[in-house]
Amino acid sequence: MERQYNSFMVIIPTGILTWQIFDGHNGISAAIFVKENLLGNVLSAIPLGISREEWLQALPRALVAGFVKTDIEFQQKGETSGTTVTFVVIDGWTITVASVGDSRCILDTQGGVVSLLTVDHRLEENAEERERVTASGGEVGRLNIFGGNEVGPLRCWPGGLCLSRSIGDTDVGEFIVPIPHVKQVKLSNAGGRLIIASDGIWDALSSDMAAKSCRGLPAELGAKLVVKEALRTRGLKDDTTCLVVDIVPCDRPVLPLTPRKKQNMLSSIFGKKSQNSMSKSTNKLSAIGVVEELFEEGSAMLAERLGKDFPLNTNSGLFRCAVCQVDQPLADGLSVNSGPFFSPASKAWEGSFLCANCRKKKDAMEGKRPSQPTVTS
Ligand SMILES: [Zn+2]
Repeated sequence: MERQYNSFMVIIPTGILTWQIFDGHNGISAAIFVKENLLGNVLSAIPLGISREEWLQALPRALVAGFVKTDIEFQQKGETSGTTVTFVVIDGWTITVASVGDSRCILDTQGGVVSLLTVDHRLEENAEERERVTASGGEVGRLNIFGGNEVGPLRCWPGGLCLSRSIGDTDVGEFIVPIPHVKQVKLSNAGGRLIIASDGIWDALSSDMAAKSCRGLPAELGAKLVVKEALRTRGLKDDTTCLVVDIVPCDRPVLPLTPRKKQNMLSSIFGKKSQNSMSKSTNKLSAIGVVEELFEEGSAMLAERLGKDFPLNTNSGLFRCAVCQVDQPLADGLSVNSGPFFSPASKAWEGSFLCANCRKKKDAMEGKRPSQPTVTS
């Protein structure tokens, strides 16, 4: 169990920044692996040479591909640990959040409206996910103790995990999927505050309580106060990690500056062009607290999330896998994916091209294959 807090201030306009929270279970190896590989896998699923606006539109799909690819790679290590992931990308006034598990991200706007940018993938609270897990071959129930009494939250069996989505958890079953809920919103130029935290915070505080406990205070003090308030309410029972990120316009020097630590590789992708497109968008929206919803999708069906692009490289005759981005000849895909893949008689899979390995993963997640991952050296 850990108690951590951190805070940042993003001055708009700026480059693209990311924040991520991983709450690992059954060891820390999944959390470490995801931290080291997820961002790269997401970026590799975004086409090159597109405009910044197109980049933002491509991001939700790339997040799905990156999460699934990272899960497949971790499974190949043959380790059993798992992790929640809350992955936040800030590009100008646009915030994109992808999440699996129960670490939340909330948005508190200048108008005092608090909105949730994630959903909780917990079997206890999510009936839709219970149905999906059961339909894909998992069993959902409580822990049975001696005498037949049921205790604790709903869990899925085999494995006994309370979450319905995560990265890792190779031993639990493929119905615990790594497909993230993704939400993309655009802030007004009044800015806002993100509070990203693990379940130890949210088991103690509602979104409103967390936002109110630090409203009007600098981000650094805010993050400390949210953790303090959660511990006061419930004690240290679970991982209690909190990030507070303030997104403020460059002409509003209200709060004291904190160092901008996470200016990573993404900041340099767009260079000059970003400045232009940002100044245009800041003129458009001015109403305080207004948040424009650009995108939201939470389906666990990979076909729905990847769309129907079927990218053929006409020079090489190869197709690119929508998940792992490996090029494969159509013939290979056909021979390995015999069955409904290209058959007009079946509606089973008419979306993006998947290589044999990723197609196997898709089928396993939907309960069409036994959940025994192939471990390669
Ligand atoms: Zn693939």
